[in-house]
Amino acid sequence: MNKKTKYSVTLLVALFIVSGCSSKNEVASSASPSSNATSTATSTPSTNTAPSTTATASPQTSSKPAQSPAASPKSSSTPSKSDGLQVIAKPESVTVLVNKQFSLPSNYEPTDLVYPDVPFTFTEKVEKRKMRSVAAGALEKLFAGAKKDGINLAGVSAYRSYATQKSVFQRYVQKDGEEKAKTYSAVPGTSEHETGLAIDVSGSDGKCAAEDCFGGTKEANWLEKHAPEYGFIIRYPQGKAAITGYQYEPWHIRYVGVDTAKDMVAKKMTMEEYYNAVPVSK
Ligand SMILES: [Zn+2]
Repeated sequence: MNKKTKYSVTLLVALFIVSGCSSKNEVASSASPSSNATSTATSTPSTNTAPSTTATASPQTSSKPAQSPAASPKSSSTPSKSDGLQVIAKPESVTVLVNKQFSLPSNYEPTDLVYPDVPFTFTEKVEKRKMRSVAAGALEKLFAGAKKDGINLAGVSAYRSYATQKSVFQRYVQKDGEEKAKTYSAVPGTSEHETGLAIDVSGSDGKCAAEDCFGGTKEANWLEKHAPEYGFIIRYPQGKAAITGYQYEPWHIRYVGVDTAKDMVAKKMTMEEYYNAVPVSK
């Protein structure tokens, strides 16, 4: 298992650039870099090539981020659906890469979902308030750290099951047809919210929740600067839409583990680049 993992994924994302979070939009597909955020580098001397794409952003030190995306297209049992989506082999990996090329299996449901003990913009104990336990614990620390700095955050939307995403998507398909629906809503299995590792965050007043105007707020600035310290990354950074498939979403944070998050930020890489899922030619 070596070169096979080489990703030749073609990101046609340009065609799909839409905003991704709010319940109505979410695109994404997914692959899955396996292994755990922390143990990663050490465990696999990186079978996969290096982080590539940018020669400059080479793997510093000995730890290569490029541990093969667990769900390398080829290893995944399910090759691809008619629409070219690859089904992720290890959806439970903390560093799973879910995007418009790599989809979570339709039957995937995290087994360790819990309610993080942080304020949300609503009070009901519902699905979208849940996260996987490791991410929930990290989120609680992140919120506490923000508060210490005078920043009061609130959760807007976290976990979303495949079933929920499916019903949302189908509603749009009925309304606008599949082709059009795909331009603004994520195909079931391709929303990162389905991993239980991502959450949309806003200020405690809920203003600009999952909206462009959140960018530049003190809450957004704090997240950008400090989220990695708690293991989260701004998953869809500014200027990377052609790679991630999403416009800048300063409110959407994704747990990957502290070491991985810090390393990705240091290398200025998106998950796609970090796991070598983007063609160099892009
Ligand atoms: Zn989101």
